[in-house]
Amino acid sequence: MEKILRTPAEAWAVGGMILIAVLALYVLAFDQGFLPSLAQGAPAFDLNFFHEAFHDARHAAGFPCH
Ligand SMILES: [Zn+2]
Repeated sequence: MEKILRTPAEAWAVGGMILIAVLALYVLAFDQGFLPSLAQGAPAFDLNFFHEAFHDARHAAGFPCH
């Protein structure tokens, strides 16, 4: 059986892309202020930047944003 990932570099590249994809999905669909709060602190939960930025896309895609 042929291996799909032949070198460690290929495995790291695929793993990195999966990690980036999961992070992008979280930011686009689920973040309610937690991620910016890591840098901004408590005001980020009121500002809710990613929720406001991607709000229409979230509703169009059927994610329950509120
Ligand atoms: Zn909404």
